[in-house]
Parts: sequence; C-alpha cells; structure tokens
Amino acid sequence: MSDLESRIKALIAAQGPISVAQFMTQALHDPKGGYYATRDPFGSGGDFVTAPEVSQMFGEMLGLWCIQVWHDQGRPKNARLVELGPGRGTLMSDVLRTLRSMPEFFENLEVVLVEASPVLQKIQQDKLKDSGTAPGWRNRFDETLSDRPLFLLANEFFDALPIRQFVKTQRGWCERMVTLSEGRLVFALAPTPTPSALIPADRMEAPEGGVYESAPAATALAEEIAAIIARQGGGALITDYGFAAPGFGETLQAVASHSFADVLEEPGESDLSAHVDFAALAQAAKHGGACVFGPQNQGDFLVDVGIARRAEKLMATNPAAATTLVAGVERLIAPDQMGTLFKAVALMPDAAPKPPGF
Ligand code: SAH
Repeated sequence: MSDLESRIKALIAAQGPISVAQFMTQALHDPKGGYYATRDPFGSGGDFVTAPEVSQMFGEMLGLWCIQVWHDQGRPKNARLVELGPGRGTLMSDVLRTLRSMPEFFENLEVVLVEASPVLQKIQQDKLKDSGTAPGWRNRFDETLSDRPLFLLANEFFDALPIRQFVKTQRGWCERMVTLSEGRLVFALAPTPTPSALIPADRMEAPEGGVYESAPAATALAEEIAAIIARQGGGALITDYGFAAPGFGETLQAVASHSFADVLEEPGESDLSAHVDFAALAQAAKHGGACVFGPQNQGDFLVDVGIARRAEKLMATNPAAATTLVAGVERLIAPDQMGTLFKAVALMPDAAPKPPGF
C-alpha cells in the first residue's frame, strides 16, 4: 500500500468518511504522493494524450483566436495571457510562437502560468525558456491576475477540478462519500440527505439512482474569471471534454497507461477527472457578468478558426510531414475522436463581438 493510501485511510479512520472532492484533491495534489504533484503524465509513454500534444496546430488555432479577440477589443496595450493547468507547456509554446506574428500584442504581453504541480512547473519553465517572454508562475488563480485585460486559456483543466457526487435515493439526495470497509477504500452514501437547496431545480426530477455531480471549485473559478473579463476586457477560451446539457449519470473516471482504472484503487497512481458540465460553467460565468459563447464542438471550433488552411500551409513547407499533419487534424476534429466530446466555450465582456469559432 502506498504512503498516500495509508494516509487517506488514517484520515478517514480519524475523522469519518470524506467527500469525493476531498478524495480527488488528495489523490491528485498531495505534495508527496499526488498524481500531478509527482510526475509528467502526458504523451504516448504517459497516461493520456491531450490536444496540444496531438498537434502544434491546436495551440496555433488558440493563438489566432487570442489575436482576433485582442484586435476586436481595440488592441489593449497591457494585456495579460494566463493559462490554467499548462501540463508540459506545449500549448503555451505554440500559442506564443503564433502571437509573435503580432509584435504589438506579443511585446506588451504579461504571460502567467497557473500550475499546482512543482514537477510540471519545472517542465514548463524548460519548455518556455526560449519563448521570447519572461513568464510568471502561480500555484493557483488569484487576485493578482485581476488588474489587466485577461486573455485566458484552459485545456483539460476544468475536468481535473474536484467534484462532489449526490445520488437520488428514496430518502432524498445523499452525498456519495469515500469510507473504509474491512480495511479497503469504498464508496458509501451519507446517511443524512443533502438539503435540497444544494441540488439545482433541473435535477430534482432524477430517477432513483440518478447522480448529480457538482464542481464547486470549477464554477467558483469560472465566475471569478468572468468578473475580471467583464470589468477589464479580454476573453477566456475553455476547451475540455464534457456535456452541454446535464444528465443523471456519473462521470468520475480514473485513467492510467491509456486505460480506465478503478477510482479508489491505488490513489495517486491514476488520473482522476470528470466530464465538465458546460451548462453549469456557463451559468456561473454569466453570474460573474460575462457574455458566454458556446459550448461549441471542438471540431467545428477548430475548422471555423482555420485549422485546414493551417495544415495546407504546413504541408506546403514540409511535404514529408503530410501524413502526420492529416492524422493530427483528423484526431482533433473527427466526431468519433476529439471533435465532438471535446467542446469550447468562450467568456467575453458584455457587448463584445462574437469571437472566432462560435
Ligand atoms: N493543459 C494541459 C494539461 C492538462 S492536465 C494539456 O492540455 O496538455 C491538467 C493540468 O492542470 C496539469 O498541468 C495539472 O497539474 C494542472 N492542475 C490540475 N488541478 C490544478 C489546480 N487545482 N490548480 C492548478 N493546476 C492544476
């Protein structure tokens, strides 16, 4: 048993069952044994492959998106570009290369990466050392990021934020907790029902056994970002896997070595994530004062921003890469690959023109 697993068990033995959100936070971010805190999980040799790792064109399209939004908003001179959960730094590297074509934007830009994992911060620093910028790092999104027009990117970040799960039972909605049974970590429902004020009205009609997942950290963050954009200008582009309309199923999953694993087995050894509830995210952002575009399927978004033209251009300069480029576009936009499950949503200031891709 890993040290992290024994510490989680000791915590439960001492204080009682913990929420799924608490379990996720420990399993992902425990400084000594947490999944992100201790490794680089990306790429074909890692546990999963994300869009920026599939092809440089993903980051290039997001860079073009930023340029257009910056232009539409009167080319502010003091813009800040923030990425949440930058992984290996690949997306930011591709975005910055694209922004260099617009010196007026690039040269006045403050670049900030928000990354909880010290291991990944180090990898990002190496990746961006020749980017022509002097980025700053933060462990979390905080109030120091609220005083300038904010251009924010987040790919596969919101799915990693902790969720709470509530199950509809005859007694009402009961929170699903993580507890101990014969020395093993198991799920169990809280004996006392959750106050119904915590369950949104549109979930009330769920059948027995239906699950409502809430992501309080995700919605609070979306609202905070939206408020900054509403006040200072800029735009946020959130890309992730998830659903546009709420369902009653559970989506928490564990992935290790490109396969699904047991959520409670070997905490810290597999990536835990949940589908992003884009409707909840959009509602929180509107509450924060932003105008929301999307969710739009990632495939349609990338095609609209111009991924096909970009692929043709890259092929013309490097014909030998044609097969790889076509495969990359296919993977990112095909409905049976990342084109439909993955979605994009944009948070914009009130009265901003429609951003590209929507
Ligand atoms: N955007 C990257 C990586 C996605 S994985 C890509 O597309 O390849 C999720 C990233 O978010 C990792 O870098 C992880 O360490 C970071 N992360 C997860 N939860 C976080 C939190 N609460 N605060 C800051 N960073 C977090």
